[in-house]
Amino acid sequence: MLVLSGGTGTPKLLQGLKEVCDFWVVVNTAEDVWVSGNKICPDIDSVIYALAEIIDNKKWWGIKGDTFTTHERLKALGFNEGMRIGDLDRATHILRSEALRSGKSLCEATQIVARAYDVRNRIYPMCEEEVSTIIVTDEGEMHFQEFWVTRKGEPEVLDVRFENIERARIPEVVKKKLRKEDEVLIGPSNPITSILPILSVEDFAERLKDKKVIAVSPIVGNKPFSGPAGKLMKAKGFEVSPKGVFDVYSNFLDLLVVDTEDSNLESNNIVSTNTLMKCKEDAVRLAEFVVKLFDCI
Ligand code: GDP
Repeated sequence: MLVLSGGTGTPKLLQGLKEVCDFWVVVNTAEDVWVSGNKICPDIDSVIYALAEIIDNKKWWGIKGDTFTTHERLKALGFNEGMRIGDLDRATHILRSEALRSGKSLCEATQIVARAYDVRNRIYPMCEEEVSTIIVTDEGEMHFQEFWVTRKGEPEVLDVRFENIERARIPEVVKKKLRKEDEVLIGPSNPITSILPILSVEDFAERLKDKKVIAVSPIVGNKPFSGPAGKLMKAKGFEVSPKGVFDVYSNFLDLLVVDTEDSNLESNNIVSTNTLMKCKEDAVRLAEFVVKLFDCI
């Protein structure tokens, strides 16, 4: 099974899925940034930390129990990194960046990091090229990290675009695996900033048309469980609801899993269950439910 992932909702589900079946993951890299000389891939890091079970599961980014000594020291010395980077987390960024600096591809660097954390599932970036999610706001354009981390998602959103997406290519290794893959799960990630960039790399979306595709809604009622998905879906012209999520994926989606709160939406291609993952047991239960659905389509 292939899973498409961002950095919060889907990694939660992956913690359950790893107890239930074998899978590989393609991860959004449009939120990647270089900070203090190192490349941060927030979504890849969260996927690896979640699978290694070391993720800070209060914030759903970074490593549990991390300290911020280097970040604070830099600040005291007069350099503000802008993003709070933990000391342990920074080691991951250095490992990745040194691999890149020695000439490795991002696919290779990602395997190096995953293996270092003893994560056996194959994890791939959506592309090698640098793509940036730009949020067009009433105060001008800003990188997603500036919009979400620095500005706390406050500015009014007018549009979202992915800079450089036209230059991005699906990695050959991903193309090869995709040809042989029948089952695709789109986890409960932000449809606009986490999944749409992956689908927009070349003809990725087109390649899903002949496969069984199931998605889990990150929206319950007319709100996301967390994060700015609602604001961003609205800006892209989608209804903020499970139906809006279905619309983003309508060209290839077979089945959408929505929360029991939205059980009134059940139909031929919408099923409901408890989709809130407060702990690993919730994630395992949801993973078991989703995996069984692939036999029904
Ligand atoms: P990001 O890269 O950090 O934005 O993370 P993702 O895109 O992977 O995940 C963000 C989405 O996860 C948000 O839209 C949330 O609504 C959704 N989410 C977070 N926790 C849960 C949960 O327990 N269940 C479901 N169904 N969605 C969740």
